[in-house]
Amino acid sequence: MKACPRCGLLNPEEYNFCSGCGHRLADVTPQAPPFFAYQAGVGAYPRYAGFWIRFAAAFIDGLVLSVIVLPLNLVFWAVGGNVNFLGIGGLGGEVSLGLSFLFNLIRTLITWAYYTYLTGRYGSTLGKKLVGIRVVGEDLQPLSFATAALREIPGKLISGMVFMLGYAWAGFDGRKQAWHDKLAGTLVVYG
Ligand SMILES: [Zn+2]
Repeated sequence: MKACPRCGLLNPEEYNFCSGCGHRLADVTPQAPPFFAYQAGVGAYPRYAGFWIRFAAAFIDGLVLSVIVLPLNLVFWAVGGNVNFLGIGGLGGEVSLGLSFLFNLIRTLITWAYYTYLTGRYGSTLGKKLVGIRVVGEDLQPLSFATAALREIPGKLISGMVFMLGYAWAGFDGRKQAWHDKLAGTLVVYG
């Protein structure tokens, strides 16, 4: 038996990943396991994060981002004299097109910066951190900022292009990869 350095749980000698928290116990690079291996895979493979836990993380990040852009919303609300409030646009008859374009541009840049910086620096956004998952490379090593940017910006644009199909992919994929994970060569794992 060997003790997990993260949570202290005792795991069988042959386990590469902690069966309690998913922490890596051995220096391995996982090959893509078939789906049955994923299902049985605690200990042998990293514990991949599926669709719903990632959805929960994204929901939390959405809340965090709406708090971050709240002052911006208030400024545009005051300047535009109308109701592009809390990111809910479309009501602003008096908000000029240019102003609401500028507002949406700034909001998009803040969103990209939030996801890219936190994922590149820490491997997880606040939402992911709270639910206990993180993004790593397919070699299970931390990401570079370039990889994080590739995943978070063009990757998620592509994932969202066809009815969010690229996000839903994480629910069925053998290693729970969304399209943005496949593009950037990343995995979302527990621990
Ligand atoms: Zn553990």
